[in-house]
Amino acid sequence: MIIAIDGPSGSGKSSTSRGVARRLGLRYVDTGAMYRAIAWWALNTGIDPADAATLASRGGEPDISFTTDPDDPRIMVDGRDISAEIRAPDVSGAVSLVSAVPEIRARLVELQRQAVAEARTAGQGVVMEGRDIGTVVLPDADLKVFLTADAQARAQRRAQEDAERAGGGGVDGDALSAAEQNLRGRDLLDSTRKVSPLQAADGAVHIDGTDLTLEQVIDSVVAAATIGDAP
Ligand code: C5P
Repeated sequence: MIIAIDGPSGSGKSSTSRGVARRLGLRYVDTGAMYRAIAWWALNTGIDPADAATLASRGGEPDISFTTDPDDPRIMVDGRDISAEIRAPDVSGAVSLVSAVPEIRARLVELQRQAVAEARTAGQGVVMEGRDIGTVVLPDADLKVFLTADAQARAQRRAQEDAERAGGGGVDGDALSAAEQNLRGRDLLDSTRKVSPLQAADGAVHIDGTDLTLEQVIDSVVAAATIGDAP
């Protein structure tokens, strides 16, 4: 079974996708992590993330690899595990510029499809999350989900995650408005770019998670995935 989960930043895609993969025994692929990995590489190589021409010509240089265990997904650039670094604010601020470069997208879409082909060969299914999975990467997925939540709920969730990553503590007004600003900026760039803008795929199941718990969202996706499998 191949499941595509798309939606805007902070909609709960990662937690949902990992939960669904765990429940159904599928591999998990976070495509946002791959765009973040290239953004991280660009920042660390001294390439301006706004320099699309240089990204287009050099974006093939870093070796990108990743693991697909939903309990411990990891991403590596040239063999170095950068799973934590890609969540830093400078990467979040740069990633939407990097992901708008067609040559970068073409390269990563190929890696994403390769991950599905490898899973199939191993007799396994995949939950893949991103912005263009149902529309571009895997239009023939068995199930396509478009997950949304209202902007405030998404900013709150992202700020909470950032605070936990930074070692715990609460979310103050400044952290919330910084998260809100980042999400708003990325949503705008991601949904208005020329290549593969964020949009719901034809036939996608729409889920609004604003007033649902994570378990409820996972239940909805699992139910949609297993309809027809019931005796
Ligand atoms: O999912 P996450 O928020 O980590 O994604 C980071 C960024 O990667 C998004 O804001 C978007 O610019 C880009 N992205 C994309 N296509 C995907 C997944 C992510 O353009 N399939």
